[in-house]
Amino acid sequence: MVRKLTAAAAVATLVVSCAPPTQKPTKVRALVLSSNGEYVPTEVSLQTVTDIVTLEGDVVKMQGGARILLDSNDPEARAAQTEEAFTRALLKDAGREVTASYITDEQGVLWPADFHTWNLVTTYYNFERAWDYFTTTVNVSKSELPQMTAYYFPEFTLKDASDKPQRDNALFFAPVQAFMVLPFESIQKAPLAINASVLTHEYSHLVFNRRVYGGRSIPVAINAWTAGGATPALNAIKSLDEGLADFHAYVASCKSTFGCNTRVLATSFESSVEQDRDLSNATKNCMTDTLLEQLYNTNFNAFSGREYQVGTILASSLYFAAQSEGDRQELARSVAAAYSDTTPSKYGFNQLAQAALEDQSKFTFDVGARSIVRHITNVNLKQRVCSQFATRLLPIELLTGTVDDCPASTTTVTGVCP
Ligand SMILES: [Zn+2]
Repeated sequence: MVRKLTAAAAVATLVVSCAPPTQKPTKVRALVLSSNGEYVPTEVSLQTVTDIVTLEGDVVKMQGGARILLDSNDPEARAAQTEEAFTRALLKDAGREVTASYITDEQGVLWPADFHTWNLVTTYYNFERAWDYFTTTVNVSKSELPQMTAYYFPEFTLKDASDKPQRDNALFFAPVQAFMVLPFESIQKAPLAINASVLTHEYSHLVFNRRVYGGRSIPVAINAWTAGGATPALNAIKSLDEGLADFHAYVASCKSTFGCNTRVLATSFESSVEQDRDLSNATKNCMTDTLLEQLYNTNFNAFSGREYQVGTILASSLYFAAQSEGDRQELARSVAAAYSDTTPSKYGFNQLAQAALEDQSKFTFDVGARSIVRHITNVNLKQRVCSQFATRLLPIELLTGTVDDCPASTTTVTGVCP
């Protein structure tokens, strides 16, 4: 009886409101991973949202009901002469604004009133955390990261792979320069957009696209490197993109209530290779002769899927090299600085890729690894990264060379990798 009265009293104090005015910051409830690993409705402050009903703000604008088709036989896409025309051809229906609904409690906090609002608000919150991480911790300027569209539950079809629309994923999709939060079907745990680490990983792909590929829908380097026999540069740049996205997601997670999360994409289906990408696995994250051979000597059609394996070893090397929050943050900044740098002694991936358009052997994986090393200014941290790279990732002779590369005195950590 007491319980019943309390519940009735609580309901009485709730004010139903479908279109609350948007205040900055906006206090809402979102599903956030708690310190014991459960998703809990948690009060958060959205700092950048300008319309809480359509879920639009400085970071993303949620857009429902879109239809996106990638089909190598699509006459519209084939006829496209410019990148903009290609993007338009893929976007069969741009969709429309979403409408979130809330219940305002007596403290003025907005509670999502239905499932989609919980999912939308949490998605916005996770994108905002990722944007905050890059603009504050990693020092990426806000002007580099303007508002992006996030297609919510679009019909997204990769026709060459399947007639059936894609499900159970959240991704950055460069051809339309937007994020997508796909409907779920078979996923048993939390929907992917609720997983903050997944969205930080995807947001990292946006940062990589903007810095390394100049924000292009069809990156020049990817286009140039697709044909031919062995594609060492394509294999390398894809591995760098995946691995560094995992590393950023890990560093960003250390600021969360849950704490540092080394199993970044434990529930993601982005990879076709089913594996547990745990950065903290000391003896598993080691390059093998076979993987190294494939990285340097196979075509991406055969390599595809292995960029996640190489990426995990790269991210794990950085994980083991960082010994403190200060190290983690410095490494995150060094890595992002290596994406683009016009200084000749330490060119970034962007510049190195441009110089290798005609010759893939000029942008092999070690070239990327050395660019990261050259951007680490703290001598001790650099030494530890070199030691981890030499232990897990690449033969030492591929890491040394100029004064800015790894020192010839770099030693490996014994008893870790065979
Ligand atoms: Zn990825």
